[in-house]
Amino acid sequence: MAAITIKNLVKKYGDGFPAVNDVSIDIADGEFVILVGPSGCGKSTLLRMIVGLEDITSGDLLIGEKRVNDLAPRERNLAMVFQNYALYPHLTVYENIAFPLRLAKMDNSEVDRLVRDASSTLELDEHLERKPGNLSGGQRQRVAMGRAIVRQADAFLFDEPLSNLDAKLRGQMRTEIARLQKRLGITTVYVTHDQTEAMTLGDRVAVLKRGILQQLATPRELYENPGNLFVAGFIGSPPMNFLPAEVSGNQVKLPFGTVELPADKAERAAGKGLLIAGIRPEHFEDASIANEGGSQSTFRAKVDVVEWLGNETYAYIPFEAPPEVAAQLQQLEKDLDGEAMRTQLVINLDGASRIREGDEAEIWVDARKIHLFDPSTGENLT
Ligand code: ATP
Repeated sequence: MAAITIKNLVKKYGDGFPAVNDVSIDIADGEFVILVGPSGCGKSTLLRMIVGLEDITSGDLLIGEKRVNDLAPRERNLAMVFQNYALYPHLTVYENIAFPLRLAKMDNSEVDRLVRDASSTLELDEHLERKPGNLSGGQRQRVAMGRAIVRQADAFLFDEPLSNLDAKLRGQMRTEIARLQKRLGITTVYVTHDQTEAMTLGDRVAVLKRGILQQLATPRELYENPGNLFVAGFIGSPPMNFLPAEVSGNQVKLPFGTVELPADKAERAAGKGLLIAGIRPEHFEDASIANEGGSQSTFRAKVDVVEWLGNETYAYIPFEAPPEVAAQLQQLEKDLDGEAMRTQLVINLDGASRIREGDEAEIWVDARKIHLFDPSTGENLT
């Protein structure tokens, strides 16, 4: 096992915009780090540079203490687990796991010992004589990991390993990978575009956009303190709402009314003109249910659509962004692959809410959870 140090890595294909642009990440020995971002952000390129499948244009890559920029993939002692598992269909599970050891011309008794150790760790003992075609997706994934384990690689690298699976199996495999990684304590780098995987698997998550590292932090930190508009919009489901906002004194003026801010937040955003407020859907509540109420934190708005799901209620409130911030919000929507609607407020209320479509409803907002962003730089001021 080993730490991986990524120092100012750059990857340029031809003379275009760098696919990976000056990225630095220190991955501790045994740590699970996720690389996440929308399509084309450079996450696969970065992983392929680590494993040695892509040349490094500039910067340094260290495994343990050793600089490996110029080492061939097989000399780096890393184990890549691919999306399709890359298993040999004509070989048994046993021979699939043993494959890298046979290549290394290891003697039979040693091969047998390592394969049996790995299969017991992965609970594959009963399946050793089967072929991959007769295994479930989850079992195939474990065989692929078994092959990585027997090699006693310094780190596991995963490139979207679950993206071909259906939602249920994906959930099961996610838990399984998390459990195994903890048990084996092996340094792991995992690429995904799925924020649920990022949030649940990673000790830390690196969010990338157009080759540039936006934020490297624990999942909780990303959710609670996103560094900029992009990270704020990317992490969280349904996504954070973005609204035009103006701060004066301790008050913030939103399209639906004025809300009192905690003093420290108000101070950091004072005198900055028109800003973009970010508020997660779950930080609103039906004012008649919110027990933290207080008239300074509520506003009235006409509810357009209500979706009642039993335990929770979604309500939608249309608004129009003023031209001064409309362009930024549009760009943000593009950067986030258009996943979010920026022309309506989405709020997630308790299932007990009696709010109906067409109501002029009183809504409470948790002002402690409001983020305020500089519209020109996207930076979170609060
Ligand atoms: P996805 O989730 O779609 O796989 P990604 O975040 O993994 O995306 P990369 O595959 O790393 O992104 O690609 C980053 C950028 O580099 C993209 O703009 C892509 O078009 C470009 N790119 C990737 N591979 C090559 C290549 N071999 N030649 C030229 N450009 C490339």
